[in-house]
Amino acid sequence: MNYEHLDAMNTEFIYYSTTLKAIAPTLSGVEDRAKVVPWIKKLFGPEYQAMFFRKKRNKYLLHLTLKIMKDEVDGIFKNPPVCGALTNVEDLQPGPRVPAKWESDTTWERLLEGLSPERASMMCSLHNRNCNLEEDKDPKNVLPSALLDLEFRYFLYLARPYAALLIVAEDKAKVASWLQALATIRSTACLGMKGIRNDYMQNLLGYLIDLRATGPFQEYPPTTALPTLQDAASNYASRHPFTDPASKEANDFLVGQPIPENGAICYVAVSGDLTETNLVATKPEESF
Ligand SMILES: [Zn+2]
Repeated sequence: MNYEHLDAMNTEFIYYSTTLKAIAPTLSGVEDRAKVVPWIKKLFGPEYQAMFFRKKRNKYLLHLTLKIMKDEVDGIFKNPPVCGALTNVEDLQPGPRVPAKWESDTTWERLLEGLSPERASMMCSLHNRNCNLEEDKDPKNVLPSALLDLEFRYFLYLARPYAALLIVAEDKAKVASWLQALATIRSTACLGMKGIRNDYMQNLLGYLIDLRATGPFQEYPPTTALPTLQDAASNYASRHPFTDPASKEANDFLVGQPIPENGAICYVAVSGDLTETNLVATKPEESF
């Protein structure tokens, strides 16, 4: 008997129970909410606690959870469950798969429209014009490569509305320029460059959700190939230390603070790198 396997089944069951409790009441259709009740009664019934049926129960719960998340109780869940045994989920006739909105989003293609041939495809910064595309064609690398493209398309889809909400015109222009530059690392690029592209994109998205463009995105993207994000971030930080009281980080922080009637708001930044010192040597032999 594989007890680890059973534990995993139970953990999964607890996850669906908690999730359904939270999301089932959020269904917008009253009819949909009513459709869910007999299914929950059936799947949470004592017979489905039996070891033999747990796997089947969990598969149904997964499908039900996904339907509720989509706010659409359809397919098998349209009608109440049959009285006897449920058909195996695998044997149900799946309907045609409708792509998610982000999958058919064309932001990537639109960012590339009208670019001159020399700007339409970014050079590789890792392989010095000599990308090993043969290695990328290796069957074990085909899927990761396709997944990186899907991930990028998804990030672009998420980023677009936030980019439109940026208030400062200069930030808006810089972010648009970054999105376009990243889009030029195409699906034909090598695996390494796709990884670099997605690192930048994920990082940029994190800032955009806060409606700010900071770190390396405070400058326009380089016209040559992109270095790794770590290199770009440390280059930027060495040129613009965030410990500088005139830095954008200090300004952004102070702008967001209320004006105190008494007292003062302070910006304190600590860095592991001693970039400069204002300590004055008091004895001739001491130096800092
Ligand atoms: Zn390359």
